[in-house]
Amino acid sequence: MAARLSARLPAMLTDIERLVTCESPSTDRAALAASTEVVAELGTRLLGVAPDRVEAEGRVHLRWRLGEGPAKVLLLGHHDTVWPLGSLASHPYSVRDGVLRGPGCVDMKAGLVLALYAVHHLHAPAGVTLLITCDEELGSPTSRALIEKEAAGCVAALVLEAAAAGGALKTERKGVSRYRVRAHGRAAHAGLEPERGTNATIELAHQVLALAALNAPGRGTTVTPTLLSAGSSENTVPAAGEVAVDVRVRDTAEQQRVDTAVHALRPVLPGARLEILGGPNRPPLTRDATAALFERATRVADRLGLPAPTAAAVGGGSDGNFTAGIGVPTLDGLGAVGGGAHADDEHVLVAELAGRAALLAGLIEELVRP
Ligand SMILES: [Zn+2]
Repeated sequence: MAARLSARLPAMLTDIERLVTCESPSTDRAALAASTEVVAELGTRLLGVAPDRVEAEGRVHLRWRLGEGPAKVLLLGHHDTVWPLGSLASHPYSVRDGVLRGPGCVDMKAGLVLALYAVHHLHAPAGVTLLITCDEELGSPTSRALIEKEAAGCVAALVLEAAAAGGALKTERKGVSRYRVRAHGRAAHAGLEPERGTNATIELAHQVLALAALNAPGRGTTVTPTLLSAGSSENTVPAAGEVAVDVRVRDTAEQQRVDTAVHALRPVLPGARLEILGGPNRPPLTRDATAALFERATRVADRLGLPAPTAAAVGGGSDGNFTAGIGVPTLDGLGAVGGGAHADDEHVLVAELAGRAALLAGLIEELVRP
């Protein structure tokens, strides 16, 4: 398997180039439509069958259900990126000294291509569903329900996000909650009669400190007030303001604790009112959801003569959080090895591509076996 996939490396690189040079920012519908066609075409060629196009709120997600009978393994990927149109000009596609670069290469276009080659080389891909969405970088607002539906009943969800540092598989991902805390006060002239106003900026200052106090680094919980805005002019007591809050947790109990506390926030200034929007977005991907699959991947690597995978815990969420959240064993970080996701130095290590495809193929083969 590993040798056969190594022989396909030049073809894999051609396909990765094709995908990377078709820019696909999550927010640009026209660009995504073009990228969707490239993914559909590559997939049709390598899997021998055209995808289902599943539409959700004006977005099209691609799904291949292979073979008859219920799916056992869900392969999960996305082709949208955080890179705006025109990024290719400043970050052109290139392969030099074994390092491949270009917008979205490690997150996760190379991962998509290696997965297509992995499935292509399976003897019997029956029982495999491949789902490639286009809004992951936005938090998967239109694909979450589809992801959960396709994962339900599977023995495993395998996520094609990039490996962690050193090629590690991701066995723990923090859960994510997002909030907007709005303060409503009362406007007044800051010079003539400020005492008649209720200052939303001051109210928010109290709330920002109350939010920061919810941090529990010892338990892996971070509560980070981020975007902040208030007021309408320099000489007006602000009537309204808002702060965004990013919450990361290692377990659901912490996600609950923070959620309850955020909703229990009360205004401090007389006459002020608070409005709390948002809540848990992605549940945590915990070790108990991943341990058995990780062991399995280790055995597969051993059998195929590949280096033993290592495990890593990461702060960022992925669609794997959703599949783990509904109780499906999930393993993440099965995509490309490299680094710099969402950053200037985004890159893929070419020498690792075939081995990762072989590991994925071997793992799928074991999981779909009756
Ligand atoms: Zn990604």
